[in-house]
Amino acid sequence: MGADIIDGKVFAARLRARIADRVAGLAASDGVTPGLAVVLVGDDPASQVYVRNKGRQTVEAGMHSEEHRLDRTAPEVELLALVARLNRDPAIHGILVQLPLPDHIDASRVLDAVAPEKDVDGFHIANAGRLATGRKAMVPCTPLGCLMLLRDRLGSLDGLEAVVLGRSNIVGRPMAQLLLSENCTVTIAHSRTREPAAVCRRADILIAAVGRPGLVTGDWLKSGATVIDVGINRMPGPDGGTLVGDVDFASAAAVAAAITPVPGGVGPMTIACLLANTLTAACRIHGLPDPEGLTP
Ligand code: NAD
Repeated sequence: MGADIIDGKVFAARLRARIADRVAGLAASDGVTPGLAVVLVGDDPASQVYVRNKGRQTVEAGMHSEEHRLDRTAPEVELLALVARLNRDPAIHGILVQLPLPDHIDASRVLDAVAPEKDVDGFHIANAGRLATGRKAMVPCTPLGCLMLLRDRLGSLDGLEAVVLGRSNIVGRPMAQLLLSENCTVTIAHSRTREPAAVCRRADILIAAVGRPGLVTGDWLKSGATVIDVGINRMPGPDGGTLVGDVDFASAAAVAAAITPVPGGVGPMTIACLLANTLTAACRIHGLPDPEGLTP
């Protein structure tokens, strides 16, 4: 049996087009142009590529984009002052501080300094708490993208068994909260889980967000499962190597009903959902209804 491939690249392109339409409509009807500020501290090459892509796609969606760069040695107070200025700036509706931050900076303190209504990454403690208690929140981009792919594929998720592999604050935990809100029966498995393969075999929906290349093989899956592979692992090789997920694609595709590839699955959804969150933030800040289909 060969699983269907869930094409995140195509889905994300359609989503970005819908967002661009709404952005144009918002400018025409309410004179509001959503603005996203991305803050980068230091010169990590991977972060620079992410930031450049985010800026380009923000502009392509018709939004205002700002990039703020601080030196790797910039003190925490300088970063906090920049965040405070962006919090007050009426042209900015979304603030993203690119992680990881240098060791001398307390990332939690910085993330919690972002105004919750401009927290388009959904990492502020207030947004995490709102999500955990089933209230309207800014939702982290990667889990939001996974949820959109799942809904598109499965329709209602009501009553399905979902297993989330990984419990990080940016993927695993918020993903589990979202699936719980969709009425799934949710299990979170992690590095201390005793029999992860047996746990995963229960899943109608498996989300792998671990950062271990090819950890999940076909024999970890229930026949007909839907598999969302969040992992992005760079394998050494010529020309910068290749990217692989946390799921061993070939063996998993023989058992699953549908699976996201790496690259081209969840990755493109993350930036598309950042744009979605920026538009949502702009609407909320201006007292307008949430844009349809872009929030959980
Ligand atoms: P993390 O390192 O913060 O968390 C990894 C989690 O996996 C931990 O909770 C840990 O308990 C669990 N884990 C580790 N080893 C395990 C094992 N053997 N069995 C079961 N669980 C295990 O990572 P993260 O930030 O959540 O990212 C996870 C992966 O997703 C990484 O590959 C990362 O690059 C990728 N990622 C992709 C996107 C995207 O846009 N597609 C976004 C964020 C993260």
